[in-house]
Amino acid sequence: MKKILIILLSLWGGINLGMANECQNTLSFDRWLNEFKQEAHHRGISLATLNATLNQLRYNPTIIKRDRRQIQFAQRFDHFSAKLISPYRIKKGKRLMRKYRNLFATIERQYGVPASVITAYWGLESSYGAVQGKFGTIRSLATLAYDCRRSSKFRPELLSALAIIDRGDLRISEMRGAWAGELGQTQFLPSFYRQYAVDFDRDGRRDLIHSIPDVLASTANYLKHAGWQRGKPWLEEVILPKQMPWEQSGLEHSYSLDHWAKLGIKRRNRQPLKGRTEASLLLPMGRNGVAFLVYANFKNVYLKWNESLLYSTTAAYFATRLAGATKHKPARAKIDSLSFQEIKKLQYLLRQRGYDIGEIDGIIGAKTRIAVKQIQKIYHLPADGYPTKRLLKRLQQR
Ligand code: CA
Repeated sequence: MKKILIILLSLWGGINLGMANECQNTLSFDRWLNEFKQEAHHRGISLATLNATLNQLRYNPTIIKRDRRQIQFAQRFDHFSAKLISPYRIKKGKRLMRKYRNLFATIERQYGVPASVITAYWGLESSYGAVQGKFGTIRSLATLAYDCRRSSKFRPELLSALAIIDRGDLRISEMRGAWAGELGQTQFLPSFYRQYAVDFDRDGRRDLIHSIPDVLASTANYLKHAGWQRGKPWLEEVILPKQMPWEQSGLEHSYSLDHWAKLGIKRRNRQPLKGRTEASLLLPMGRNGVAFLVYANFKNVYLKWNESLLYSTTAAYFATRLAGATKHKPARAKIDSLSFQEIKKLQYLLRQRGYDIGEIDGIIGAKTRIAVKQIQKIYHLPADGYPTKRLLKRLQQR
């Protein structure tokens, strides 16, 4: 799963966030491995596991190439989600929810997380277990932990992977997964596997590769620990009025359903929104595209699983589809969106003007949206936080 936005995009060949910091590896891989081995032993990993996994282990340059590859395409929510949420995937997800109805009911009683939410992650992360990755996890993680660029992230992951073998959850030969070390049917990083995996089928092993009860319950266990609120919504599609104070949209604002109702926003089924529950208005493609209200479970939990807004919105929307929601409405007008290079250009121009847009990464994330909204207000444009070609042109004129 998540943490960085690698994950899902590893479906498409992997990306990174453009952290181009130059650094130098000071030791040879073998010497580094020897030192690491001593530390791992010191931290309680058995010599038997260390010898069996690390002796004769070789550095894998392919992994580093993957890690440094960058995405080069802009992603619009409607295109992106349509690609990931195929009709087949919805149908299969629903079938699996029926097949494992009792298991899901037990899991929801225990962890408070509904079947549709778990199933959506299961579908997105591994196509329900079909695509878990074929990379030897230890070799991938040792390579990434050795590489100076992201050593501090991957060194603990390597230790966790060894601990998983050491405690008998997976055999070395079974431990294969995504190129960056994610494991199993919902692609847990080893540190999450170590901390949140549960042996739900009680065979003595926490097996997230083969055991569906272990996979589903562990996913729920993680979501519960991340703060999932039982019985509470996460996301729903809403219908917008023609005009409204667009600057109130965005994750940085939260208002009661009563407030949104007063602005003329309705549920997709036209039922009124009511009550003091707080939600944020998310406009993934601006004021003319699909609109969602997102709740605490989205903001606290989905964005922890994967900090990519695009991925998380897709996963949360997919879960609503599995729970019975209809396909989202088409855009009400042509969406004027920027290419990957244009988004980078826009981010560059915003940064020049002193806005905090995070990384110049070609991704319209939360920070870029806030900056866009501020500049839209200055230009007296509808402040929906979604950058258009028109906005970019104006920025370039000055
Ligand atoms: Ca088990």
